[in-house]
Amino acid sequence: MRRIYLLPIIVLLMQITAFGQKAKDTEVWEPEPEIISPGFSYASAPSDAIILFSENSLDQWAGQDGIDAPWIVEGRSFTVKPGSGMIQTRQEFEDFQLHIEWRSPLVIKGDGQGRGNSGVFLQGKYEVQVLDSYNNRTYSNGQAASLYKQTMPLVNATHRTGGWNSYDIIYKSPRFKNNRQLESPAFVTVLHNGVLVQNHTEILGNTVFIGAPSYEAHGAGPLMLQDHGDPVSFRNIWIRKL
Ligand code: MG
Repeated sequence: MRRIYLLPIIVLLMQITAFGQKAKDTEVWEPEPEIISPGFSYASAPSDAIILFSENSLDQWAGQDGIDAPWIVEGRSFTVKPGSGMIQTRQEFEDFQLHIEWRSPLVIKGDGQGRGNSGVFLQGKYEVQVLDSYNNRTYSNGQAASLYKQTMPLVNATHRTGGWNSYDIIYKSPRFKNNRQLESPAFVTVLHNGVLVQNHTEILGNTVFIGAPSYEAHGAGPLMLQDHGDPVSFRNIWIRKL
């Protein structure tokens, strides 16, 4: 009789660990990117940019299933409403230059991946991590400005908790052949508070929590911002198609 009860538990465990793989298997802790103090900069949008958020309105964004984005807008910034799900741009993009600013919650709560976690998903698939990485050690390829579970940032340029951080992201979409095989991978360059942290980094495939990344053919896609349960704020978001 006892075996009958164990079987569903074993099946469940196998699913959680992706058939023997564990989330820990793809964490890289050493080396730790050097911690530096970035300068302060503010980038206003150039004339040819699409403004994705400046103040008061999340018109350019949608919540799950196309509903109005349910996050909390307060003047010139907006904040994740924990539990409401990701939001994504109504427009889709291929190659682009993106500017986005984010701020960790002022009240420090949790640690590691549990402190000020959000993310910018390029084409809805490839996460540039947002995390309060000020005095908050986690695996190097999961800290702020990492390409999550793929490539750690060159340095840790995160401002003190509660300060505004900027990402300037230059992104080249992957290309796929007619048979949906990969023709050329995606590449991303990221400046964190004006400091180069990803230097034309090759993206290895979709961001995944467990197991190795791989590509699935796709065309243009939206920008997505992650609801990871923490009230992270964003402001001054603009994009230029390339
Ligand atoms: Mg994240």
